[in-house]
Amino acid sequence: MSLITDTIRTYLPGKRKQTPSGWISFNAPCCDDKRQRGGLIFNAGDAVSYHCFNCGFKASWQPGRHISQKMNQFMRNLNIPDTTISQLRLEALRLDESNNTEVLSIIPTFDNRALPMDAISFEELTTFLKLPDGDYAVPTKFTEAFAYLVERKIDPWSYPFYWTNKVGFNNRIIIPFLYKGEIVGWTARAINDAKPKYLSEQQPGYVFNLDRQQDEREFVIVSEGPFDALSIDGCALLGAEIKDSQNWLLKQLGKELVLVPDRDHEGPRTVEQAIEYGWSVSMPNWPDDVKDINDAVVKLGKLATLWLIVQAKESNGLKIRLRAKQWFKDIQ
Ligand SMILES: [Zn+2]
Repeated sequence: MSLITDTIRTYLPGKRKQTPSGWISFNAPCCDDKRQRGGLIFNAGDAVSYHCFNCGFKASWQPGRHISQKMNQFMRNLNIPDTTISQLRLEALRLDESNNTEVLSIIPTFDNRALPMDAISFEELTTFLKLPDGDYAVPTKFTEAFAYLVERKIDPWSYPFYWTNKVGFNNRIIIPFLYKGEIVGWTARAINDAKPKYLSEQQPGYVFNLDRQQDEREFVIVSEGPFDALSIDGCALLGAEIKDSQNWLLKQLGKELVLVPDRDHEGPRTVEQAIEYGWSVSMPNWPDDVKDINDAVVKLGKLATLWLIVQAKESNGLKIRLRAKQWFKDIQ
């Protein structure tokens, strides 16, 4: 252990947990976090890496490197005194001179040892996230929810949907958010014209339907909405933005990530983010009145939709941008 990692260890918040793979989680000091979304790991070769799953802040250090601005910021957030940080900066320089070649050769690849899946834990439903009170049932053929699912070509038994007669929720189908088999949030989708369309309790960085991506498929189709994801067994961002932590979670699947954006005014921004994260993007030759995956499945069926998505899959950023220009041309 070096002076640097030792000091960081000393200043970590008292309330913390450690996973078997070595991630230490605590309330992130970089932002207003009360759910222990800050993750830190000490790696082989005396390196340290910090990642906040709340705001996306990252910082790392390894012997042979200077202390970066980010690391400096993280240490200040931990309330390490400035004078101590200055000493650590000098220590880093000293290690740089004395150990550089030797140390760099014994550090394999930084940050690869533990799977971040272990570092992330979405809390089980707390009072805050609890489903609204009421009796819940799985939709049966006698409910409007059942009819709604059938209309959208989604098998009502393919996912643990909920349905209630509680006022305010009696016209909504409730989709629990699962993570490693536990309910960690939910969204309630109106099945009529009720506003807002979705009522949700969602933890930051959550990716919908991640649990079901362990099959043999070589790629994961990522969409915006939960019904798009359920239509073709993909994942959903639950919004038009790709959060840094969502990118991280999805990357752990070790598969090609294929974004299928909604064909609306927010789509181009999502496409740009996907390019930055190194994802593929598919903008299929939908019929004119199709604006998302679920639309396509309703009109064309699941197999044809999947085929069109795979056909249009592109990984080259330049080609993606050219295609986007054309694909979003009529969208305002
Ligand atoms: Zn943070």
